[in-house]
Amino acid sequence: MADHRRTIPRTDTLLADPRLAEARRRLGHAQVKAAIVAAQRRAREGDLPPKEVLTAVLAALPASASGLRPVINATGVLLHTNLGRAPLSAAARQAVELAAGVTDVELDLDTGGRGRRGRTALAALAAAVPSAEAVHVVNNNAAALALAATALAAGGEIVISRGELIEIGDGFRLPDLLVSTGARLREVGMTNRTAIADYADAIGPRTGMVLKVHPSNYRIEGFTDDVSVARLSALCRERDVPLVGDAGSGLLSPEPLLPREPDVTSWLNDGADLVTTSGDKLLGGPQCGLLFGRADLVDRLRRHPLARALRVDKVTLAALEATVAGPRTPTWESLHADQETLRSRAESLAARMRDKGIDAEAVGSRSVVGGGGAPGVSLPSAAVALDRRMAAALRRAEPPVLARVENDRCLLDLRSVPAEHDDTLLAGVLAVQTRE
Ligand SMILES: *Cc1c(COP(=O)(O)O)cnc(C)c1O
Repeated sequence: MADHRRTIPRTDTLLADPRLAEARRRLGHAQVKAAIVAAQRRAREGDLPPKEVLTAVLAALPASASGLRPVINATGVLLHTNLGRAPLSAAARQAVELAAGVTDVELDLDTGGRGRRGRTALAALAAAVPSAEAVHVVNNNAAALALAATALAAGGEIVISRGELIEIGDGFRLPDLLVSTGARLREVGMTNRTAIADYADAIGPRTGMVLKVHPSNYRIEGFTDDVSVARLSALCRERDVPLVGDAGSGLLSPEPLLPREPDVTSWLNDGADLVTTSGDKLLGGPQCGLLFGRADLVDRLRRHPLARALRVDKVTLAALEATVAGPRTPTWESLHADQETLRSRAESLAARMRDKGIDAEAVGSRSVVGGGGAPGVSLPSAAVALDRRMAAALRRAEPPVLARVENDRCLLDLRSVPAEHDDTLLAGVLAVQTRE
């Protein structure tokens, strides 16, 4: 026993190994030391041959100092909330890397004095939405709504249709958020029908704002009616109350593939005073909330004390600017991917899998936008169909692959997978197959 213990490599010997020195630069001393201590303990207890201590330490160490792991989204859900919604473009990732250091985010290098925080990102947004007099950026769309409600309606009322009192997901209910700001909701109309007269009757001296919410994740069909932004804005102008629109999904201008999704430009042109939206849905950028609209209102929001608690960091501003002013985003590419191309990618992948003895077949599929966007819309796609048991196994691949189980088969839907990841996807399937 004593002999066995003597052959366990000592901590300083292990720390001197070049691979562990590299791991210390990557992960820090404490994490590497903890892995060494754990492996030595296993060796002392006889669970690990002393010769294998170094290998065990290396195997126990994660690839990155962050616990987040990159995964391949083959679910066919383009904006998967549990997978972090929109993946950033290469340009946005590069901007993140640059901004992560010391930057001039709030400094004017010409004068040496303070500059407007994130002015280049704001300029990019203003250029993308010429209909907006002013722009402001906060942490997410919920924050944009909270800021608007607080600055415009706290202590007063928000007039909103009963058909637009929505829950977004994970128990997040928009009405609860609005009420938490100290505003009261003045609900008008019915779940399925709201008329202009309902709004007209409700607007009064206590009205702080009228809110129009895009019911982004469900659709009411049948005997329904709602009031368009154009009609509502005429009424709001007449009564001198601001009309705020929550457009939800982040389209800055109309997207022909998603004709029912509202966009910021159209709502502003229709007379909305402020429009809010998310940055990490169809816009394809980082998590943030965007506010566009009348300069006096944006200024009021920007100067409200709450604005400071909701402001975004330099890294988000950099990614946002590169998303808005830079090349097409992965989200745009996925949305617009041509079905024939998806089909030939699926066929080629399935053939390469069959070459390795895997039961794989290219099949037609339907993708969805997801992230609470474009309810009822599905996009024609193509997938590789595998044995359903592969779905769980692929989650443990390196990198993990998220598939969709449908009709008792495991589908790898390619609309949500960038073409340059096909080889990684294939490698994941092959690795899992040999392990099973
Ligand atoms: C997604 C969504 C929100 C919430 O946006 P976050 O950016 O996740 O805070 C609010 N309203 C609508 C209509 C949405 O679609």
